[in-house]
Amino acid sequence: MSFYKRFLVPITLILLSASTALIAGLYAMTHQQDARERHREERVVALALAGQIDGLQKVLREYARWDDAAAHAVTGFDAGWLDEQFGLYLHEANGYEANFIVDEQGRTIYAAVHGRRTGDAADRHLGRDYRQALSTAAAQTAGKEISVGGLSVGAHGPLLFAVHRILRSPGSALPRGAPRRYMVVAKEVDEQLALNTKQAAQIAALRLIRRPDPAEAAVPVRTYAGSTIGYYAWAPTTPGTELRHGSMPILAGFVLVLLGLGTIVLRNASTDLRELQASEAKAQHLARHDALTGLPNRRAFNERLVKLAGRDAVYSVLVIDLDGFKEVNDSFGHATGDLLLRRTSERLRRALPPHAYLARPGGDEFFVAWEHGGEAMDHQAAATAIIEAVREPHEFQAEPILVGASVGIAGGAGLEYADVVRRADVAMYAAKSRGRDNWCLYSPTLNDGRRERRELESDLRRAIAAGEISVAFQPIVRSRSGQISGVEALARWSHPTRGAISPDLFIPIAEDSGAIVELGRFVLREACLRARDWPFLLSVNLSPAQFWDRMLVHDVLRTLDECGFPPERLEFEITETYLLRRPDAAEEVIRDLRRHGIKVALDDFGTGYASVGYLRRFEFDKVKLDRSFVEPVVSSPEAADVALAVVALGSALKIPILAEGVETEHHAAILAMAGCEFLQGWFYGMPQSAAEIDTVLAGGANLAAPA
Ligand code: C2E
Ligand code: CA
Ligand code: CA
Repeated sequence: MSFYKRFLVPITLILLSASTALIAGLYAMTHQQDARERHREERVVALALAGQIDGLQKVLREYARWDDAAAHAVTGFDAGWLDEQFGLYLHEANGYEANFIVDEQGRTIYAAVHGRRTGDAADRHLGRDYRQALSTAAAQTAGKEISVGGLSVGAHGPLLFAVHRILRSPGSALPRGAPRRYMVVAKEVDEQLALNTKQAAQIAALRLIRRPDPAEAAVPVRTYAGSTIGYYAWAPTTPGTELRHGSMPILAGFVLVLLGLGTIVLRNASTDLRELQASEAKAQHLARHDALTGLPNRRAFNERLVKLAGRDAVYSVLVIDLDGFKEVNDSFGHATGDLLLRRTSERLRRALPPHAYLARPGGDEFFVAWEHGGEAMDHQAAATAIIEAVREPHEFQAEPILVGASVGIAGGAGLEYADVVRRADVAMYAAKSRGRDNWCLYSPTLNDGRRERRELESDLRRAIAAGEISVAFQPIVRSRSGQISGVEALARWSHPTRGAISPDLFIPIAEDSGAIVELGRFVLREACLRARDWPFLLSVNLSPAQFWDRMLVHDVLRTLDECGFPPERLEFEITETYLLRRPDAAEEVIRDLRRHGIKVALDDFGTGYASVGYLRRFEFDKVKLDRSFVEPVVSSPEAADVALAVVALGSALKIPILAEGVETEHHAAILAMAGCEFLQGWFYGMPQSAAEIDTVLAGGANLAAPA
């Protein structure tokens, strides 16, 4: 789900609803407060109005319950006294405009209006509501204190009135049969009334109006009988609204802060999410790529194969294994090893066409998924391109570094991807066992070789301790005299179930697994012990892994010492590839060996990078011309020329030449003629046991005469 859907929308909604709820809550609360306040004001106003009527009634009661009033208006009648004490007096003292004395039937007995006695009738002057109030009062049972009051619309407008029966002061009753008389007072409703109510209610803007304005608060002004004659209206106090207005900026600020915080949270969340996504993508990349070279890893490669199989593509898998990488790592360190792997991956990428998918499953191995497209794959061309790209010397160190490649190829059509890789792997091992810088196309028979190789690998270490390894000695003769000048020690493995196993098979296995160091020590010790008393040179093969071992010279000298073998009679055979990988270090080791009297021969000359410069530089005691040159020497004149050239070179540099693989007398004759000082081969003797050599020595040590 997107960030938008997961966070932005919900958080925005939460913030919006929170803000809305807050505002709505505030609004509702303040609105309620306004309503409550208005209600209170209305009650206060209503009470203030009622209070005025009440006040009028209270004043009237003081006059109506008065013995003198009863004497002058009920039991007797004195208009003069009434003017003085009631009608005119109340006008002047209290501002009551109209004051009457009426009898039970409502007839006016005395009337004073605006401070003057008149003949006005109370009914007419005070109006309908008064009449109703009077009849209510009259309906009251005798003896009861009667007091009513209210509003009425009189002849001259609205007025407040009060009616009270005239009685004696409390405690003394009117004589029996005394008529019922009532005192009536009225006060016109005017500005003053509104003012009084206003003061009582303490509402500044209160005023009397006819029709209420809905925007304002209003309390109806009702007559005694209940008809509305107007309203008290005022602008209501709205503490809620004020509070709301007062708190709005704070609230707005709060909402803004909330939104701001929300934005920050969202932004942080979005950055976090982006970072998370980025690190996820990185993790994804790491999970599918090799950290060292940046190439796809095994997993990505397998996925690729599954994809190819999924669309029925025709493809091949190539397994590339570096030869000699382990030694580079051991002698130069891992940093150099890593650099070499990176450089190699770059070279492979350049050497391969775009449709070839290159991956590094680990170690010194590379995989290629090669989609054929329209035309069939040229295995030879592909493998050669790879091998050549890999074996090109690396120049990033002071001295060039060399590694090789073994390439196995298997077709992938109709197979499980794991099977294709396994087959290519089998083919790669087959290529490796054929020697370095080789390639091989898978065929079912290879499977056996692969299994065998694995078994041999585990058998080998045990074999040394178990005494299955022995040393054979092959004579080396001087071409001129046929005299034995030395022997080459060759390892032999007599496997308990397999019988004799060829060194061409187990030596590369020992080199790859590291067992070669142990094996080499064993061969040296064994050879020295056996050959101690022989009157000639002992040649022992030295593998790169041994050659790079820092302890080599030390170990060798100790072995020689222990065996009592003179260093001057020992010769090590090394191949060119050892030297090319690290010429400076090699030179140092060779010097060191020679300083102690040990000789060094260059083995298999002509098969590798045959360089005249190296020949001169290392001052070999002997150069062994590879046996692949020997057979052609007799069959083709051109090859003979090459051999002759090599021999000529040797003599020019004053290095004796030895020809290997001399199988016939004819070979021996030609090579001797060509100038080879030493010869070695079946013609002079097979590799044989020490006991056999002893026998030969007893017989005179002359193996064959030169042709
Ligand atoms: P290499 O050093 O070139 O040894 C000579 C090989 O040529 C030996 O094979 C030998 O038996 C064979 N040979 C001798 N004369 C003839 C001949 O007239 N015709 C033919 N076709 N072959 C002949 P081998 O004993 O099978 O050894 C194979 C390789 O294994 C050796 O090649 C050497 O590189 C390696 N090797 C053998 N023993 C040791 C050892 O103790 N240490 C090390 N590091 N490598 C060894
Ligand atoms: Ca050799
Ligand atoms: Ca050789």
